[in-house]
Amino acid sequence: MTGLSVRAVGTYSSSIKIGVLAAQGAFAEHIATLSQLEVAAVPVRLPRQLEGLDGLIIPGGESTSIGRLMQDYHLADEIKGLVRHGWPLFGTCAGLILLASSIHPDGKIDPLGLMDITVRRNAFGRQVDSFETELKIPVLGEKPFPGVFIRAPVIEQANSGVEIIAELANGTGVAARQDRLLACAFHPELTEDTRLHRYFLDIVAGNQ
Ligand code: GLN
Repeated sequence: MTGLSVRAVGTYSSSIKIGVLAAQGAFAEHIATLSQLEVAAVPVRLPRQLEGLDGLIIPGGESTSIGRLMQDYHLADEIKGLVRHGWPLFGTCAGLILLASSIHPDGKIDPLGLMDITVRRNAFGRQVDSFETELKIPVLGEKPFPGVFIRAPVIEQANSGVEIIAELANGTGVAARQDRLLACAFHPELTEDTRLHRYFLDIVAGNQ
């Protein structure tokens, strides 16, 4: 085992219950990963489905659509309120965009404004809109993490309360943590590597 704080599969309290925003995008894959880790995973489409959850994942997909659906279903304000009370949230790809406090002016989206970062959407342009690269993520241990980037955003700027936990070789921030908020520009749910999900579950359980 390389990750010092990352637990073995199946060692989480069976009482942990995580919601996965199921408006649009790769929510089924997150639910599958959580189920593999033997954690109860609940698809969330309506505010009342947030009740009794210990945290939420906002998946990758199309951030404009997910954002619009969150507004239409009155989820955005509920989620913001819960996070202000210390609720853990993990945003992947479009989820990272939605967590941001600020979006590069090309971005045309109104984010939730929860993590103190500026994000640029579709930062790799059309020519290299998808790629895979090995990432060093020290909080997960020494073994590189398979970073699957699909029309991915990047973190252009992070303010002082934010810890950048993964960078590309050129120093571009692609994953960050701020208190109990976690976000990454890539798709951990599309890989076999469950360490980032386990890191989030450790945040939820108060072990991180
Ligand atoms: N390009 C998408 C957006 O801006 C994000 C892509 C993804 O989630 N894989 O919303």
